[in-house]
Amino acid sequence: SAGLYLVATPIGTARDITLRALDILASCDMIAAEDTRTARKLMEIHGIPLGDRRIIAFHDHSSDAAVARLVNAIRDGASLACVSEAGTPLIADPGFELARAVRAAGLPVTAAPGPSAVVTALSVGDLPTDRFAFCGFLPAAPAARLAELVDLRDLPFTLVFYESPKRIHDFLAAARDALGSDRQASVCRELTKKFEEVSTGRLSDLVDAFDGRNVKGEIVVLIGRAGAVAVVEADIEVALRQAMQTMRV
Ligand code: SAM
Repeated sequence: SAGLYLVATPIGTARDITLRALDILASCDMIAAEDTRTARKLMEIHGIPLGDRRIIAFHDHSSDAAVARLVNAIRDGASLACVSEAGTPLIADPGFELARAVRAAGLPVTAAPGPSAVVTALSVGDLPTDRFAFCGFLPAAPAARLAELVDLRDLPFTLVFYESPKRIHDFLAAARDALGSDRQASVCRELTKKFEEVSTGRLSDLVDAFDGRNVKGEIVVLIGRAGAVAVVEADIEVALRQAMQTMRV
């Protein structure tokens, strides 16, 4: 029936899709996708004919007019499935503005839950899962990244980050500077894929392990909660000052 369906899709293994997700993709009137090619391929793999339906490209930077068009289509009775490139829409992915606009128009928003890299990493990352904070992607700029890590330092939760493979070493070094060498962490790479790899250890050991490595694939970093190890305030201040200086150059 009419409404927005936020459909989770696999993060690496095509068969990690739910039966309900397939039902929705097969029966909906319209599909909005972050990456139309990935969406088309996923439907092909699962034998779902597109018929005369079109896959509409939809991004975080889609205009208000584009959002309004989709809301109007739902108001006119359409069922719209929204998929991101991988995993759960809205989680470091587009969909939030659209979901909010649909709800504000008094129309139904339904989740078809499924894979997400956050939860998958927590499942295999060997760090406490009772309380965690999802921090998404931190800024790439060294000073801003370090400042955010310092802000997160005392949270009593396992911290979850998304990071690109080319920045993983710098990220781990910044985390060590901000949070201390002895914090436990896990680098979860290529989850659910052929070359899945989970590396767990102290931050300083992981910095060494990833030094000079040409890292490929997708990565979630988990960092253990504050509390076990005291961090020396002065070290952080020195590191922050150094990063600020680098920024100014
Ligand atoms: N919506 C997705 C979700 O629910 O997890 C996340 C989308 S975000 C744009 C992409 C990031 O998620 C990647 O850069 C990586 O940090 C993480 N990610 C996605 N798939 C992954 C995988 N198979 N293994 C490790 N990390 C993954």
